Amino acid sequence: MEYSRGDKIKVSYGTAIELGLIKGIMKDPPTTGYFFVMINKCEGKCKFCLQSKEPSDMISRVIWPEFNIEDILKKPLSKFKRICIQCSKENNIISKVINFISNISNIPISISTSPLREEEMILLKKMNIDIITIPIDCASKEIFSYIKGENWDYYWDSLEKALKIFGREKIGTHIIVGLGERECDIINILEKCKNMGIIPSLFAFTPIPKTELYNLKRPSISSYRRLQIARELIFMNEDYEFSYDNNGRIIEIKANKNILEDIIEKGEAFMTKGCPNCNRPYFNESPLGPIYNYPRKPRKEEIDIIRRELFAEGLKISYK
Ligand code: SF4
Repeated sequence: MEYSRGDKIKVSYGTAIELGLIKGIMKDPPTTGYFFVMINKCEGKCKFCLQSKEPSDMISRVIWPEFNIEDILKKPLSKFKRICIQCSKENNIISKVINFISNISNIPISISTSPLREEEMILLKKMNIDIITIPIDCASKEIFSYIKGENWDYYWDSLEKALKIFGREKIGTHIIVGLGERECDIINILEKCKNMGIIPSLFAFTPIPKTELYNLKRPSISSYRRLQIARELIFMNEDYEFSYDNNGRIIEIKANKNILEDIIEKGEAFMTKGCPNCNRPYFNESPLGPIYNYPRKPRKEEIDIIRRELFAEGLKISYK
């Protein structure tokens, strides 16, 4: 499938630097190459995203300049451990995606998209796409319909269908912390994903100028740390207990002492989670911090900061 000369796609700033498409230095380079495919304009209505307002070079707080596909394909894509294609919500978007990915080989590819038709998913499976991600973004049905203006059940049905075609742990979703949900809602979604075989990726809400949610605050870093530990315990199949206050906030985590100590000390729980080798550097935060998702293993001094953040709101830890 050929792309026509001059066909363009967007490339995340860090990916463009890594490929030498633009000059610059990345503090923590991306280990995955991030691309955004759009035809005219995204038809999605996500209140946190500028693309729902107008075609823009911004996704979250990152700039995504546009390049010709032929120029991108001349670059050393193999330096990445994974390629991630983010898709705008448009009819036939998959044909443009296929025009690009049919020229890429020997690198695992993830596609992040709104729900697709079954035959489209089967076609992507035949093209050896590694992981399909259908971002649910919101942790409850009410917040989902308010923020995304779409059908919650339809999205879960689409995840089920994708699971049947791609299999367990080959389907992902994104969950944004800080859209008005309670921590216990996030835990419920994480446990549901675990049971279904879906890889959930945590994002921290990022206020973007000109979007409807620009005045909403970022989630508390302490809350985000509690949820990262929770995600780790759930996906490690550990024996855990979470206690909540009346607002559904985690006030106590109960689990094995060594496991909990290890999780904090090792720091991997506080890194970007999702498809293997996805690190999305500074997608939700400035490198000046606070860092919600570390794009690499936190250093010793950062573990000390993480520990302070974790206990800053009085979290109790007890042992099983
Ligand atoms: S988890 Fe990362 S690599 Fe996977 S779809 Fe999401 S952004 Fe892309």
